[in-house]
Amino acid sequence: MRGRYGSSRWLSGRPAVAFDVHQVVRVSKEETSPARDAAASFRPVNPLPSFPARPTTRFAPSPTGVLHLGHVVNAVWTWGIARATGGRVLLRIEDHDRSRCRPEFDAAILRDLAWLGLEADAGSARQSDRQDRYAAALARLGRVTTVYGCACSRKMIATAAGGPIEGEELRYPGTCRGTSLGLVAGLGVRAALPDGAITFHDLRLGAIRQDPALQCGDLLLRDQPGSWTYQWCVTVDDLEDGVDLVIRGEDLLESTGRQILLGRMLGRTAPAAFLHHPLIHGDDGRKLGKRERSEGVEALRAAGLAPEAVLGRAAWLSGLLPVAEPIRADDLARLFDRR
Ligand SMILES: [Zn+2]
Repeated sequence: MRGRYGSSRWLSGRPAVAFDVHQVVRVSKEETSPARDAAASFRPVNPLPSFPARPTTRFAPSPTGVLHLGHVVNAVWTWGIARATGGRVLLRIEDHDRSRCRPEFDAAILRDLAWLGLEADAGSARQSDRQDRYAAALARLGRVTTVYGCACSRKMIATAAGGPIEGEELRYPGTCRGTSLGLVAGLGVRAALPDGAITFHDLRLGAIRQDPALQCGDLLLRDQPGSWTYQWCVTVDDLEDGVDLVIRGEDLLESTGRQILLGRMLGRTAPAAFLHHPLIHGDDGRKLGKRERSEGVEALRAAGLAPEAVLGRAAWLSGLLPVAEPIRADDLARLFDRR
């Protein structure tokens, strides 16, 4: 699958020589391997290519669990790039899914960020406070595409698609598009997506081409219990908060084309710039499991690690440092120095 994104070029048109697109960052059990060897084989991610001038970016955790190393990796990239470019970091708590978010996780995330020394440039915003914003955007979207009620369950969609295929996204086949189901409580809300490819330049991976209508079909904007979806909230928030640089993990790469498309339909004239950073993987290449991810910030703190050690570990795990050496929050910009 990675080959699809291969042979990329930076936005600036220079060949992608600074970073291997195929590199998978692994968590080694041998963290203490000699620094000399690690440094010799280390291929730095920097210098990174052109970013928007003084970008507005965001850190956007969901309070469905505690802050763990995966989040810290994202924070290191986000704050590091923002500080290196004179940009701003907005803190957005993505609590759109009311069934899964809990206030104690919200509080814990804020506490852990403060402990790490990661300060946002504006007060934290919560998606749960923005119901009117998402509803108003939906009304705008309804003027440019068909927005309709959907009564399908996930199981029905899987059956209509011929059953779920391992590793492939479930595509909504448009079952309810031609029906007269309105936007009423108890039904999902979907938007018809126009056919056609979206192309964009990921600042790390290069040229990407996606076809949202083929990948996911008409997009779910609100689920049947009444929660706005991730795709919808993120698109509306990035547009209305003026976010012009999105920095997130590769696991969200497939969301980017559809978010660009939705933003365009909402009248966004220029999409944000995107950078998808490496995820941390276990020794066998799989994503970190629950137990490993329970390397929550709180647990690392309880184990006696300093904030600098946790940030350094995250920087190292995502290819920004040759060894897991400590780095302070206010020093993260040096990971992205342009030399
Ligand atoms: Zn349906």
